[in-house]
Amino acid sequence: MLLGAHVSIAGSIANAPQRGKDMGCEAIQIFTKNQRQWKVKEMGAEEAESFKKNLSKFGIESTVAHASYLVNLGSGKEELYKKSLESFAEEGKRCDALGVKHLVFHPGTNEDEKEGIKNISNALNKAIENTKTIFLLETTAGQGSSIGYKLEHLASIMDWVEHKKRVGACLDTCHMYSAGYDIKGNYEKVVESIEGNIGIERVKVIHLNDSKNPLGSRIDRHEHIGKGSLGIESFRTLVNDKRWANLPGILETPGGEEDYRRNLGILKGLRVEK
Ligand code: MN
Ligand code: MN
Ligand code: ZN
Repeated sequence: MLLGAHVSIAGSIANAPQRGKDMGCEAIQIFTKNQRQWKVKEMGAEEAESFKKNLSKFGIESTVAHASYLVNLGSGKEELYKKSLESFAEEGKRCDALGVKHLVFHPGTNEDEKEGIKNISNALNKAIENTKTIFLLETTAGQGSSIGYKLEHLASIMDWVEHKKRVGACLDTCHMYSAGYDIKGNYEKVVESIEGNIGIERVKVIHLNDSKNPLGSRIDRHEHIGKGSLGIESFRTLVNDKRWANLPGILETPGGEEDYRRNLGILKGLRVEK
């Protein structure tokens, strides 16, 4: 696994590679724009070029983007759905400009799961037309009316998408454990469920977060590696699992850069092959 963290783009996207390097990242995750705003100024070609140059300069081996939290492609409210789709498609284009292949997003929320799943699939079919990005559905904890706490949700969405090669999955360890997938007690069964529902090859990114809450709590609260209900041994298993050997493993743990550096050090220390 290529280990890394979610890195800030404050100042410029081009600053992210060095920030990542300073924390010890082999892989980084970034937002493509300020994630609290719908509209932001267009990204200049210069910024994108200098980002790409810095990735190789600072030895970042893998980069993934994460979509804005404002986006809700599951929404049944027309205005929010339209705004979400526009913003989402725009982020796909930014990924193209940045040379980033994968865009992770939270599938969305809707009280009516079936309607939500259909809305998300339709949105993906539209967004796919205008970019080269591969869109990764992130597994969720199932808090509120969020879709994606069952692998079956991801499978149904992927089923509706016409270009199968343009969708994949991002597994979040905190979310999955909170959703009831027992990564700690029965890891192989969880992997079997991933294989059975979506296929191992569809998994492109793993978010490595411990959880503040117990198995099946459906609460989304991240904890430092080894300090939560998943515990250190769960991460030893994940980091050394050959099936994920080529994937970025991204931390989204609480705190700042110091905390990321410490958590990354812990993860690297778990590797059997250094
Ligand atoms: Mn996420
Ligand atoms: Mn995550
Ligand atoms: Zn989370």
